[in-house]
Amino acid sequence: MSTTAEGGPGLAQERRLITEIPGPRSRELFARKQAAVPPGIGTTLPVFVTQAGGGVVVDADGNSLIDFGSGIAVTSVGNAAPRVVDRVRRQVGEFTHTCFMVTPYESYVDVCEKLNALTPGDHEKRTFLVNSGAEAVENAVKVARSATGRQAVVVFDHGYHGRTLLTMTLTAKNMPYKQGFGPFAPEVYRVPLAYPFRWPTGPENCAEEAAAQAIDMISKQVGAENVAAVVIEPIAGEGGFIVPARGFLPRILEFCKANGIVFIADEVQTGFARTGALFACEDEGIVPDIITTAKGIAGGLPLAAVTGRAELLDAVHVGGLGGTYGGNPLACEAALGVLETIEADGLVAKAARIGEIMLPRLRGLQERFAIIGDVRGRGAMTAIELVVPGTKDPHPTAAGEIAKRCHAEGLVVLTAGTYGNVLRFLPPLVMPEHLLEEGLTILEKAVSEL
Ligand SMILES: *Cc1c(COP(=O)(O)O)cnc(C)c1O
Repeated sequence: MSTTAEGGPGLAQERRLITEIPGPRSRELFARKQAAVPPGIGTTLPVFVTQAGGGVVVDADGNSLIDFGSGIAVTSVGNAAPRVVDRVRRQVGEFTHTCFMVTPYESYVDVCEKLNALTPGDHEKRTFLVNSGAEAVENAVKVARSATGRQAVVVFDHGYHGRTLLTMTLTAKNMPYKQGFGPFAPEVYRVPLAYPFRWPTGPENCAEEAAAQAIDMISKQVGAENVAAVVIEPIAGEGGFIVPARGFLPRILEFCKANGIVFIADEVQTGFARTGALFACEDEGIVPDIITTAKGIAGGLPLAAVTGRAELLDAVHVGGLGGTYGGNPLACEAALGVLETIEADGLVAKAARIGEIMLPRLRGLQERFAIIGDVRGRGAMTAIELVVPGTKDPHPTAAGEIAKRCHAEGLVVLTAGTYGNVLRFLPPLVMPEHLLEEGLTILEKAVSEL
């Protein structure tokens, strides 16, 4: 594989610091941002990007940073993957929009056929396209309610599902997602998630006890017969890359099956090869009734999908689903380019390989530094959880400080977690290995200097 192609010819796959981070030009632009954009739109790292691809982000001062964020798990194929760029370029000259609900076009159907074929389960499926992860989750709930005639929705501790009224209600964490934005949508119930590192009686009991508690709460407090859907991330993303203890997801799925509850897997962050499988559900053989996807689906063009059992999606009346821009032709072409790239470049295997490189080095770091309480994740979706040494008390200031030091050294990293004490790593799957290793060395240095 060429190490430059993903960012366009000439984008050197190297870390290069010319100025302090952020440099003068970025600082100037950031001052304009602060005057023009409300502070509610936060900034992780105030460098302004001029070019990006492969494993680097280049800023307005000419610095080249190693990217462990992928724009939050979006640019898995790179920020300018050739197959995506070529397809979008061709399409933009043909037509940019007609509205699929007015006069349809083939690429939308191509994307839906491919998602029906590629998502877990060989039952008959349908797919429709929308613009964002939140919109996909919200629509999945609409479908489940319509198909079951029930209203209640069950979600989990540490869950994140978006920022619209319904999806922020489904989201667990108050600050910053919900604070001051109530009242929230009705008929949403939250139950425990099998979080191995923080399970009171230890990780070995976690799956069984958490599932029993969740099922008991659903049965006693809501009534299974009132529940339209359970919505769950197979790995909790914003909540801190929490991999539910093995056995938990199958138990919840089994309960849903036995009670006519629609099992919705929110794979908006975990989907499209990220975890070393095309979809994270595959790891435990979970076949969801509905799966929501977005982020990695189209290389950064706004697209999201709801895919599920034909009998569920077909239950909604004609015209009951849709939106002006859903499945925009440029985004559909981009998605087709992403799927071609994943296959042609073997990105499922590459994601697994990234995990094989990262997890041992992160575990080595954990052995040296008691501030790292937990190392977890799968494939190219890994994280460390920071604690006050000798305890499990969350240490968010350490996470923030390490992130700051990484940023200053030209490594883009993101924080996460209900307690804000998790550093998460989401490199593009096309990142050259020398950059991956260099990024890890910067991280190790930042942790050891703390
Ligand atoms: C990001 C995310 C969403 C929301 O997606 P948007 O495109 O930001 O609306 C929903 N669910 C999960 C699991 C996510 O990670």
